[in-house]
Amino acid sequence: MSIAKGYAAQNATSPLGPFKFDRREPGAHDVEIEILYCGVCHSDIHQARNEWGGSIFPMVPGHEIVGKVTRVGAHVKNFKAGDLAGVGCLVDSCRTCSSCQQGFEQYCENGMVGTYNGRERGTGEPTYGGYSDKIVTDESFVLKVSEKLELHRVAPLLCAGITTYSPLRQWKVGKGHRVAVLGLGGLGHMAVKLAASMGAEVTVLSTSPNKEKDAKELGAHKFVVTKNPDALAAVKNYFDFIIDTVSADHDLNLYLSLLRLDGTMILLGVPPNSPQLGAFNLIGKRRRLAGSLIGGIKETQEMLDYCAEHNIMSDVEVIPISEINNAYERMIKGDVHYRFVIDLKSLS
Ligand code: NAP
Ligand code: ZN
Ligand code: ZN
Repeated sequence: MSIAKGYAAQNATSPLGPFKFDRREPGAHDVEIEILYCGVCHSDIHQARNEWGGSIFPMVPGHEIVGKVTRVGAHVKNFKAGDLAGVGCLVDSCRTCSSCQQGFEQYCENGMVGTYNGRERGTGEPTYGGYSDKIVTDESFVLKVSEKLELHRVAPLLCAGITTYSPLRQWKVGKGHRVAVLGLGGLGHMAVKLAASMGAEVTVLSTSPNKEKDAKELGAHKFVVTKNPDALAAVKNYFDFIIDTVSADHDLNLYLSLLRLDGTMILLGVPPNSPQLGAFNLIGKRRRLAGSLIGGIKETQEMLDYCAEHNIMSDVEVIPISEINNAYERMIKGDVHYRFVIDLKSLS
């Protein structure tokens, strides 16, 4: 065991504060990483505040982790001390079920192990995430990070990047498609960059009129303020895909009506309450409602390599860890441009 320093939520209502805990010594297949940067995902807020139920406290959130390898176990093949490395949303899975065998560890039939707010297979010990100075992870769940990109801007790719890349690939989004991105936050801004890079026409649907200039700079072709009924009416029956990244409760029926014949709305956001659906909104235009959960390890590596090749990185605001509670409040207000990233040097 070695002592790690981090920030934790002690319960669903406490602000996050300094916390010390044990990390295991690297086993034969483990990689120990000194965490340099960790992105702040809205899922961190949902879980730290127990909005989905079942949260494990104390909780050290954070699943957009990049850093430097410090030690490796005797049987580690792909990493050595000094390498850049990343850890995303999951650190283990059963590895034998059909989902795992296909590289879809996130859909593991026996339950994937989350990077935090999970329990280690075997020991049942809680997992602690990236708001901390180091992490020890089996190399099968560690990603290679290119030296070419700015490291602090790579961190959010480990969740926001893969969560938007995976459905874009699954539904083969590209040239000739009209894609709407609902909500311009961490996931939303990566969806815009990635969908535009794949050749789609991209429209941002946002509650924040002041994000229009940024949306266009990120690669969007159109911008629609969802509070403006006339602007929404102009894109009725228009889109092939809507990527829904909204973190708060919202009316799905309103947005389904923007899909054209055979259009698909893909839910990525996980609002606290279940939405109500009007059947006619699907039936009337043979529309589809789908969902997608992060991505498997192989696809996450593919996404990181794609981003390195196309020079795609997140737009970030780097904060010291002492600012984390304030960052949460700003994210809840939609005031994020477009991902907060913690500089873990601020822990020491
Ligand atoms: P975020 O950075 O906070 O962005 C969410 C955006 O949603 C906001 O910036 C805002 O954009 C919009 N929004 C917020 N409240 C709204 C409201 N009441 N009505 C309409 N729009 C609203 O969050 P994130 O980190 O991108 O995460 C988004 C959601 O995805 C969260 O629920 C998170 O848990 C979930 N998530 C899912 C997966 C997955 O695997 N499926 C992975 C990661 C995260 P505008 O200002 O443009 O309106
Ligand atoms: Zn996330
Ligand atoms: Zn499995």
